[in-house]
Amino acid sequence: MAYEVVIGLEAHAQLLTASKMFCGCSTAFGAAPNTQTCPVCLGMPGVLPVVNQKAVEFAIRTGLALNCTMAPMNRFARKNYFYPDLPKGYQISQYELPICEDGWVEIGQNGTAKRIRIRRAHLEEDAGKNLHTGIAGASHVDLNRAGTPLLEIVTEPDMRSPDEAVAYLKKLRDILVYLEVCDGNMEEGSLRCEPNLSLRQAGSEEFGTKVELKNINSFKFAKAAMEYEIKRQTKVLSEGGKIVQETRLWDPEKGETAVMRSKEEAHDYRYFPEPDLVRLRITPEMVEEVRKALPEMPEAMHKRFVEEYGLTDYVASVLTTDKKTAEYFETAIKTAVEAGFSKSKVEISQDIANWITIELRGLQNKFNFELTVAGASYTVENPVSHEGVSRVQITPEKWLPLFAMKKKGEISGPTAKMVLEKVVATGSSAEKIVKDEGLTQVSDEGALEKMIDEVMAKNPQQLTQYRSGKEQVFGFFVGQVMKASGGKANPAKVNELLKRKLAG
Ligand code: ADP
Ligand code: MG
Ligand code: ZN
Repeated sequence: MAYEVVIGLEAHAQLLTASKMFCGCSTAFGAAPNTQTCPVCLGMPGVLPVVNQKAVEFAIRTGLALNCTMAPMNRFARKNYFYPDLPKGYQISQYELPICEDGWVEIGQNGTAKRIRIRRAHLEEDAGKNLHTGIAGASHVDLNRAGTPLLEIVTEPDMRSPDEAVAYLKKLRDILVYLEVCDGNMEEGSLRCEPNLSLRQAGSEEFGTKVELKNINSFKFAKAAMEYEIKRQTKVLSEGGKIVQETRLWDPEKGETAVMRSKEEAHDYRYFPEPDLVRLRITPEMVEEVRKALPEMPEAMHKRFVEEYGLTDYVASVLTTDKKTAEYFETAIKTAVEAGFSKSKVEISQDIANWITIELRGLQNKFNFELTVAGASYTVENPVSHEGVSRVQITPEKWLPLFAMKKKGEISGPTAKMVLEKVVATGSSAEKIVKDEGLTQVSDEGALEKMIDEVMAKNPQQLTQYRSGKEQVFGFFVGQVMKASGGKANPAKVNELLKRKLAG
């Protein structure tokens, strides 16, 4: 029996507002437990929530990027359930009138582009965190996260494979990060996803019973959990069994999903309109204002990179898949032109793009730093005193002079790459490193000729071979001269001089 996979995705994005959804408490991560709380987010009786305007603006911004319609009138609702991390006994969410509806996102490239429909996106508040480690026999509750604004984004069941679902999820994350509404960090839980997955007989019109998957904090786990679930459901169905509608938890250690709870229905939550908040009116003017202030999105940036910097489609897409990389690239170009390293943006764009996407990316894995608009930086243990930490800044100014040095023949290509690594490792400038370590290439003809003479004197046999027509020996001489110079000879100059000298 052939089965078709059907997937719909629910995602929760923590919004990057400074304060919480319904009170003024800070949303900053990492503070001591329960220090960022107040009577509102602690769920004390008699207090009233106030809607965070910035969160509404971020929801509209996201709705616009997801091609949604913004409901002119929307309403908050209470979703009632009991859990220790939810002190009010209900979560303020949206139910029958969500803020954004009926949108779509395109995944895949030109030839294989496919639209994934967005059913809705609604505002709600996050819960606190239960902590089960630290004191034996006890669990603790940290309510700093309680009340953090969330946007829940729900698709139609339009995806037909785990790869499609992951492509959608990546696209969604890019959009949220470009919009500056969510940091997109799945490991830290600021973007969480719950795939719903079912199987049906190929060709069937009806959907099968779905299972919801939780506890997924990376693209890798999302794919693995869905693949496991396809195998499990295929086995159940082909043995004549039935799929039970339930929520299953992904266990990354075992590589399996296991039942968490049987599926709750909407009526289990006794949704009702939130009586403490008036309806939220979204006017066309509000939407227009947000639209006018939308940041540049990946497609637009891609197009601009091709036009403004003369990059190929491919290089532009590599640079713009990550907003921070794209911003770092633009900072580097601007610096190169302003500081006179290059006459025009186009002249140096390819070199800079290569260095960022190949050399710096390679070093990123080794040194674990991030590229940002202000430059790249990372924290290291103080290399000298081993006391405390210091920040290593890798601004484009520090490595851009390497291009000019290479062009002038002062350093070789391999030396330039080696110096770049030292820039990243130490935060020193390339110019200082080249000077301090005496890495300047030898281009001086007199010095080079002297080396060549010595090499020729030491290798009379090869010289005879070359002069009797065995031209392959030329490479041997180049190698010997480079070696004699400690790798610092200018290879182009060596070639030129050798040709002349060997000819006799
Ligand atoms: P529930 O009421 O159980 O939460 P919803 O209809 O709200 O279910 O859908 C939740 C998510 O599950 C949506 O993303 C939707 O696209 C997806 N979904 C719904 N039915 C199926 C199905 N049969 N197979 C896979 N995904 C589904
Ligand atoms: Mg649901
Ligand atoms: Zn509060």
